[in-house]
Amino acid sequence: MAAVTRLLKPSRFSCSAATVSLRRWLSTTAVSETEPHVKTPLYPGGSPPLRADPEGRNVQWVFLGCPGVGKGTYASRLSSLLGVPHIATGDLVREALSSDGPLSRQLTEIVNQGKLVSDEIIINLLSKRLETGEAKGESGFILDGFPRTIRQAEILDEVTDIDLVINLKLPESVLLEKCLGRRICSECGKNFNVASINFKSENGRPGISMAPLPPPPQCVSNLITRSDDTEAVVKERLRVYNEQSQPLEEFYRLQGKLLEFDLPGGIPESWPKLLEALNLDEHEEKRSAAA
Ligand SMILES: [Zn+2]
Repeated sequence: MAAVTRLLKPSRFSCSAATVSLRRWLSTTAVSETEPHVKTPLYPGGSPPLRADPEGRNVQWVFLGCPGVGKGTYASRLSSLLGVPHIATGDLVREALSSDGPLSRQLTEIVNQGKLVSDEIIINLLSKRLETGEAKGESGFILDGFPRTIRQAEILDEVTDIDLVINLKLPESVLLEKCLGRRICSECGKNFNVASINFKSENGRPGISMAPLPPPPQCVSNLITRSDDTEAVVKERLRVYNEQSQPLEEFYRLQGKLLEFDLPGGIPESWPKLLEALNLDEHEEKRSAAA
């Protein structure tokens, strides 16, 4: 735990709350400082551990991927398949923003100034969320949007074991077209996508097709495009993401936990392939048979 304190120390923010809750989180997990740190089997070279812990805890996975790749969708589907919570830090921040209290005021100020929410605040929100979940009997998790930096990944490693990191990938040309096709209904707030993606195979790379997600007739006349879904902004977003995420991918690659997954298309093509890559295809068959 000394490492967590050390990592958190140089910050301007008061870190005691985060440290205390992380410490509490540590004490409630099977791993303690005095016991030898039993790492879960590394993924490449074997199948990913569906039940990683001999005491039967559920999976503890992280999802990485560019904005627009659809990681929220896949993380949420896997979380219902495996019965673990899908914890998206973006949702935690939004919830905290809409709640009452000093944290909400602090966050509003940060967001209004266009600044990034600090590691301390994110970790604080995350540890609170994990504690609440554990009190309700939750086991395992799929994290989406965290960690974003190596420092966050190191802090996470101090408090819990991550079994597997799934990096979802799409070619940049596809991501760009997908983002430019996004539409929101100004009446009901639902998201749609008008892009019909059809890239032919090229230089040994397989082709990729993604069907649009068209709006129902009542929404058609209300469709709007987000102001930040322009080509220049999307390209800049992808550039910033790639710059930040490469060291993080390398961090997990060195730990042998990174599973690179090239999405072969939209959800209908990608979902079965993803389950196959995770050795979960039988898991879903059993579940649908039982349902
Ligand atoms: Zn609508």
